[in-house]
Amino acid sequence: MSFFSKKVTRIQPSPTISITAKAKKLKQEGKKIIDFSAGEPDFDTPDNVKDAGIKAIKEGQTKYTPVNGTKELNEAIIKKFKRENNLVFNPEEITVGCGGKQVIYNALLATIEKGDEIIIPSPFWVSYPDITILVEGEPVVLDCSLENNFKINPQDLENKITNRTKWLILNSPSNPTGAMYTEQELQNLAKILLKHPHVWIMCDDLYEHIIFDDLEFKNILQVESSLKSRTFIVNGVSKAYAMTGWRLGYGAGPKELIKEISKIQSQSTTHTSSISQFAAIEALDNSDEFIKKNKTIFQERRDLFFSKIKEYQSLKAFLPQGSFYVYVGCDELMGKKKEDGTEIKNDLDLSDYLLDEGVAVVPGEAFGYSNFFRISFATSNENIIEGCKKIISACQKLK
Ligand code: GLU
Repeated sequence: MSFFSKKVTRIQPSPTISITAKAKKLKQEGKKIIDFSAGEPDFDTPDNVKDAGIKAIKEGQTKYTPVNGTKELNEAIIKKFKRENNLVFNPEEITVGCGGKQVIYNALLATIEKGDEIIIPSPFWVSYPDITILVEGEPVVLDCSLENNFKINPQDLENKITNRTKWLILNSPSNPTGAMYTEQELQNLAKILLKHPHVWIMCDDLYEHIIFDDLEFKNILQVESSLKSRTFIVNGVSKAYAMTGWRLGYGAGPKELIKEISKIQSQSTTHTSSISQFAAIEALDNSDEFIKKNKTIFQERRDLFFSKIKEYQSLKAFLPQGSFYVYVGCDELMGKKKEDGTEIKNDLDLSDYLLDEGVAVVPGEAFGYSNFFRISFATSNENIIEGCKKIISACQKLK
């Protein structure tokens, strides 16, 4: 009998984290790699936010804080929801953790009994199914087809709901496709959810601030407020304010849920770093300019990527409405052979091959939806141009 638990042997290390680490290692070894795998902004944390962190250290804010975050941070989060989403929360409805990932983990650990089902629309962010498995839940994958712009078909959602369904995960804009739900689409989903009051909704809004073409972000609670008693919103400072390393995510939802999350956290990490909390207040309060500027830069990069990749017709890139990812269809390359005669059987083979050719991407398999790969355009224009060139010439060599 294995010493290790079944649940831990059933999961994999996060593929996005692993591939990014692999690309970094190859670069350190002196190999020229264009890294399209990293799911983090390439910008530095803004100076005002860094300064707030430094000030916190200097002022001795280096002790334990409340489990769910300092009073000041809670207030900044509440203000953020009011200002940006017109949603009203009280302090007892807020939790703060070490990144969005821990907030999701805590919420699922607090609610899942063995065998409870979590509906995860695919393509999905890599960690949802594995966190589900870790808490002994059952991931129920709901395929969202390319024809439906990688969004949930409401009827398909209803078909997946059983009396064991605990949560639906709603990630908009999506990692890895960048698809974002419109108000009307959210209303259509809400109609189904209203018929099934035992299903809770977990909204992963991490990419809320990175959206393009003057589109407007909406959370499902803005279109159907009566879902509030069973909706948990997850957000964080990593993507919007270039703070991935600070590890600060937050959640807002019914106070009974927050109370249970708080118990779990008090018995695990206690809270995220006090210094990160002070920096996050500054990020939440004073980043309008930073967000505006980055949106423009990301949109230009997205458009640059599209202008380059379209030169090669066998790859079909899906235009993201938000996030800094492009999900690229590579169906037509399956079955082709490399120069050494080995066949490209799936997107994993293709991603390995692209890495050998100097470009790191994440295979679609990791997101539960093949034959695609994900590229992150959170990198310089030069890298985007060079990376596209490398991808195209590598693909053209396949016979
Ligand atoms: N969320 C990012 C990504 O998808 C960062 C890595 C991770 O936590 O998965 O690449």
